[in-house]
Amino acid sequence: MDTICPIDRKCASQISVLLHPPPPPQVQEYFEELISSRQCRGIKVKQNGEFGKGVYADLDFKEGELILKDPILVGIQHPSNKIDCLVCSFCFQFIGSIELQIGRKLYLQSLGVSANEACDNEGSSKDFCDTNSADEEDDCYVKECKKLGNCASSSSSNGKVTLPEALVQSLMNGELVLPHSKTFCLPSAIACPGGCGEAYYCSKKCAEADWKSSHSLLCTGKRSEALSREALAKFIQHANDTNDIFLLAAKAISFTILRYRKLKAAHLKGQNKHTDPVELDCLELSLLLEAWKPLSIGYKRKWWECISLPDDVDCSDETAFRMEIRDLAFTSLQLLKAAIFDQECEPLFSLEIYGNIIGMFELNNLDLVVASPVEDYFLYIDALPYSEKRTAEEITQSLLDALGDGYSVCCQGTAFYPLQSCMNHSCCPNARAFKREQDKDGQATIVALRPISEGEEITISYIEEDLPFEERQALLADYGFRCRCAKCIEEETT
Ligand SMILES: [Zn+2]
Ligand SMILES: [Zn+2]
Ligand SMILES: [Zn+2]
Repeated sequence: MDTICPIDRKCASQISVLLHPPPPPQVQEYFEELISSRQCRGIKVKQNGEFGKGVYADLDFKEGELILKDPILVGIQHPSNKIDCLVCSFCFQFIGSIELQIGRKLYLQSLGVSANEACDNEGSSKDFCDTNSADEEDDCYVKECKKLGNCASSSSSNGKVTLPEALVQSLMNGELVLPHSKTFCLPSAIACPGGCGEAYYCSKKCAEADWKSSHSLLCTGKRSEALSREALAKFIQHANDTNDIFLLAAKAISFTILRYRKLKAAHLKGQNKHTDPVELDCLELSLLLEAWKPLSIGYKRKWWECISLPDDVDCSDETAFRMEIRDLAFTSLQLLKAAIFDQECEPLFSLEIYGNIIGMFELNNLDLVVASPVEDYFLYIDALPYSEKRTAEEITQSLLDALGDGYSVCCQGTAFYPLQSCMNHSCCPNARAFKREQDKDGQATIVALRPISEGEEITISYIEEDLPFEERQALLADYGFRCRCAKCIEEETT
């Protein structure tokens, strides 16, 4: 396919350097640093020819033992899930209170159907918390809710009991305290310091970390460092309407730009003499490469080349389908470029790089899941001794009825985990991603499924491993490989 993006031609040589896998010693060094910073000394990443990389046990692990906690490099909560769960935009733990979680969700449910219609008149996103209202926090939630309500699926309010608006409001503003909710204390929600009214955090620490990592460029609020907040709003709207993977790609690009700026500032501080323009060009590329390193590690292919053909697309239309996907990515990239372009990081705005970043997420497909404390709360009430339960349920039962089956919806999104993404698949894995009771945020948690001895490769299953052989292989083809694990070799020959 010919390129349609002028930057692809202009920056061809820098792009090929960026997409060239880093030399093995550099990769090794990167992972060693990462592992030591995570204090999970029981593993190491090794490069192995045919399959690229693998994670190996450096110690013996017992069944059920924790192998790794892997923080998110970049991650997003699915926009549709924002209606169900209010979580920290950086670490993805639930925030606010049980009352706020329930009240906010009921409020959005009540907006459900009609809000969809209102959506058209309202135009695209404006800043809902923009108007000198930093002190009116309750109001801010309501506005945030209205905005989300615009995207609320109409099905969410079907067949459910609706509660009086005053009751819902009193849950949201903290006037009503539910029985036993203190057992499920959540960190209070801190609004984004940039004033977007969209991002909330569990702590100042998370707010600052997110700001430095990517949000300062992607915030739609007053203090945003984006070139154009209107352009940014258009980009976000386009991603919400088409594919939220673009939001994750935008985070990856912002993350790299901000790292680049930081590296450059540190470099310039360290030397006083004037650098000549040729040296400066080389310097900029080497700093960009360094900034890009965490993302350079992941296995990549262009999105429109690696995306699996949907069932409803005929094979004869495959080329047209792939062109359409490429054009969609190009549209998204142009919107993002208008919002956050940085001349010194120009190659990042090539379609080639954008396509490869999205393809990396597609091929690594790592789900972000955090269990809901609201579910735990209702289970706790249900398990109370009879008389206590009866008293509590006088208040909680109507809420549970109004929430319907959705009471237990967990936080869902997509994230890139640097170490987990190096773990290879097996249909008879020795480890799995499993959140224990104490794991309340978005980090990947990997535990041993059976005893693992030192030197053994640690494997997880990317799919439901109990499916029949052919179905497994078909699903794994979407990840771009044919499985040759012991189980598959055995089943293939029988
Ligand atoms: Zn947090
Ligand atoms: Zn913000
Ligand atoms: Zn297999």
